Amino acid sequence: MTKAFGAVTEHTPLVALDIERREPGAHDVAIDIAYCGVCHSDLHQARGEWAGTLYPCVPGHEIVGRVSAVGSEVTAFKVGDTVGVGCMVDSCQHCSACDEGLEQYCDDGFIGTYNGATADAPGHTQGGYSQAIVVNDKFVLKVSHPAEQLAAVAPLLCAGITTWSPLRHWKVGPGQKVGVVGIGGLGHMGVKLAHALGAHVVAFTTSDSKREAALALGADEVVVSRNPDEMNAHANSFDFILNTVAASHDLDAFTALLKRDGTMTLVGVPERPHPSPNVGALIFRRRTIAGSLIGGIAETQEMLDFCAEKGIVADIELIDIHDINEAFDRMQRSDVKYRFVIDNATLNA
Ligand code: NAP
Ligand code: ZN
Repeated sequence: MTKAFGAVTEHTPLVALDIERREPGAHDVAIDIAYCGVCHSDLHQARGEWAGTLYPCVPGHEIVGRVSAVGSEVTAFKVGDTVGVGCMVDSCQHCSACDEGLEQYCDDGFIGTYNGATADAPGHTQGGYSQAIVVNDKFVLKVSHPAEQLAAVAPLLCAGITTWSPLRHWKVGPGQKVGVVGIGGLGHMGVKLAHALGAHVVAFTTSDSKREAALALGADEVVVSRNPDEMNAHANSFDFILNTVAASHDLDAFTALLKRDGTMTLVGVPERPHPSPNVGALIFRRRTIAGSLIGGIAETQEMLDFCAEKGIVADIELIDIHDINEAFDRMQRSDVKYRFVIDNATLNA
């Protein structure tokens, strides 16, 4: 049995559970989980804010740990290696998306690290709020950061790649003015990565208390988006805006800040839809609103290696698993700078 924490219904707090992990098959890597980040998607899923949650639901897809066993066909990993697992544990591996290293857009739908279809008990995958996990070797990442940074590396596996992938796809770099909206787990990584890629970065926050803190993350400017004068000062000036907000909100306030041909990419998946965007604001400057889903495995490795080389990690608050429900409540109130990470050793207590 593996100790875990999960939700049994959408209305009840997360509780201690015993779950089963399969014996590693020929291509599997068994991992003792050291740390797991707490993504807002975990909260959406556990609390039934998205349709289709399967219970019991053990969330967690920002996993780092050490290899405890490998299958007979595994050559890329050995016992003792430091590794990561993100949002995916499998995909069809033969469609055109998978062939291009875009497993997140797999034609059959990728298998999520939790709430995904599996032959393992109880018929859906269970995530990283647990002591251990068994994953196909193609979905295991190598972690080369120093050991003392491991807890702060965990959020790179979702928050890092979900912001890295659109920044790279829309070719963010020097000479560009880039906005990041919502300075939470994803957004604070978006600021760090856009800054590291050489862009002029403007952080948009609803929280006055994050004004100074966002500058420390690498933002060149900070705008409190509740203040219309501050917003208007940036009209028609952005090449690219990455919107990470986890709640329904007025998108027009941000599209108005894009230059001609500018793009705002949405990565937040709110419980309720955004109000319909103003078509005129898109047509008159040929602006685009786009979306982006996590990132592929090769791209995730590229991001981890880039962050290791540049010394980039998340800013975290390390928590005991027994404090997870309070952490969910605080994340719901945007009261975390900027990512909770579970110390999975506290599952043993
Ligand atoms: P988070 O840590 O809670 O951060 C979201 C931030 O949005 C908050 O810190 C807050 O920033 C801002 N915000 C929250 N409520 C708001 C409101 N009502 N109006 C305006 N701003 C608000 O969440 P996260 O873990 O970064 O995740 C963000 C979203 O991305 C979630 O919906 C999550 O499910 C989704 N997600 C998507 C992908 C993908 O592949 N597309 C991957 C991972 C997560 P300020 O305090 O600065 O305003
Ligand atoms: Zn996530």
